[in-house]
Amino acid sequence: MEMARRKYTQADLREVVSELAPGWGDRIRLSADAGRGRGPGPDLVVCPFSNEEVVQVVRLCARHSIPLVPHSSGIPAQASDPVVHGGVCIDLSEMNRVLEINAKDNDCRVQAGVSAEQLNLDLRYDNLFFPLSTEPGATLGGMASSRASGTNSMRYGTMRSMVIGLTVVTASGEIIRVGGRTRKSATGYDLTALFVGAEGTLGIVTEVQVRLFQRPEQTRTAVCSFETLDDAVNAVMVADRRGISMSRVELLDRLQMQASIRHSKLSGLSEAPTLFLEFQGREADVTEQVIAFTDVLAEFNGSNFQWTTGDAESDALWRARHDAWSAAQMLQKAAATLTIDICVPVSRLADALLHAQTRADESGLLCPIVGHVGDGSFHMLILFEGSDARQQQLARSLAEAIVGKALSLEGTCSGDQELGAGKKHYLSPAQSGALETMKSVKRALDPDNIMNPGNLLEI
Ligand SMILES: Cc1cc2nc3c(=O)[nH]c(=O)nc-3n(C[C@H](O)[C@H](O)[C@H](O)COP(=O)(O)OP(=O)(O)OC[C@H]3O[C@@H](n4cnc5c(N)ncnc54)[C@H](O)[C@@H]3O)c2cc1C
Repeated sequence: MEMARRKYTQADLREVVSELAPGWGDRIRLSADAGRGRGPGPDLVVCPFSNEEVVQVVRLCARHSIPLVPHSSGIPAQASDPVVHGGVCIDLSEMNRVLEINAKDNDCRVQAGVSAEQLNLDLRYDNLFFPLSTEPGATLGGMASSRASGTNSMRYGTMRSMVIGLTVVTASGEIIRVGGRTRKSATGYDLTALFVGAEGTLGIVTEVQVRLFQRPEQTRTAVCSFETLDDAVNAVMVADRRGISMSRVELLDRLQMQASIRHSKLSGLSEAPTLFLEFQGREADVTEQVIAFTDVLAEFNGSNFQWTTGDAESDALWRARHDAWSAAQMLQKAAATLTIDICVPVSRLADALLHAQTRADESGLLCPIVGHVGDGSFHMLILFEGSDARQQQLARSLAEAIVGKALSLEGTCSGDQELGAGKKHYLSPAQSGALETMKSVKRALDPDNIMNPGNLLEI
């Protein structure tokens, strides 16, 4: 059974505006293109303050069959941008209050528009922190909805394990609470997990309950270069197998290092495959881990090993890592880009990376690589001339080949960035059984297909 939505009209939109107008003031904006820089934008952008206001919007949209696109921070995620073909964009950035901090239980509840940085500022007096960060400004609602991870998910896990409860406004406009504050629960279907990563296709997340962690006594950051990607990845794998605990391990390939050194003005680093490393914990434990790790580096010809000396230097290094995409885009002025975000079982990462690099070299396109190597994932940015049909085709074939290889290694086409509209076609046929089950869930929870239609699933 396919889901057909009645086409809404301008009269429907006018009715929504006139019903909201009395209390909302300038929190409703008519928009020619308030989307995220691509395609037609939404017809209307609304900025609710509360769960009840989200309910009001959802019920109005449900009554008029108007699509609803939730949006928390607006950081563009490239090819996976949500489809915005008109409808109402529900912008949750004004729902940005930290609602409760339960310091004794290491958890807190925040509104969907709270960013990780904002939460960490609020937590500093309790000696607690929320460890995941993707891009500056990314919100917990958006991160939960895209099942995000980040540079230190190797130690702390991804949003999948970080989110313990949610408040969701369903497609019919009901407020439901799923999960809760307990460390475990055996109460039927795991609905929290269902909404985490649903990309707004099943309901609007308005509140997120997350786990928190004690601030580590010590954090040490280092960099180390390698002759080959293979050596860098194998060093991390061996260190992991020996029980060396790393909080962050990021790989930048030669081309990415070239871009980052130039863009972020990094001095003393080589244009060679490089690991950015971080160790956290009690001082004695960190020292022990560091000694064990330097032994591993020697086995894999690691060179130019350097510790940062103080917070400012560490911050600069991690900022350079977070700015990697901006740096990479400077490699070729005005280039179009295609991003790949794959994840494979850790033991197969070297295989996937070498395949990707060989195919990239054969294509002649510039393709810098950044990898969250500790958890088996990497991103490649393919740069190409958008106006050149041959290069467009080359870029697309390269992406298909790299994703195909990842799938053949029992990996996935998306390790941490959402599928959106741009990558959903990779889901089938490898996961056709799972895909049909996802469609059944979608039909059950959003029978009129108003929640972020066109994203994640083709209905
Ligand atoms: C340069 C760059 C680097 C990145 N690096 C990483 C990385 O290392 N790891 C990683 O995981 N991600 C990464 N991302 C992707 C992005 O940062 C994450 O997906 C982030 O979690 C999105 O958060 P946001 O607040 O911007 O959400 P948005 O972009 O607003 O939304 C993300 C998705 O969730 C839906 N959504 C948003 N809010 C809600 C809500 N309240 N309820 C229901 N659905 C909602 C949206 O419709 C959209 O489909 C990167 C992106 C960029 C541009």
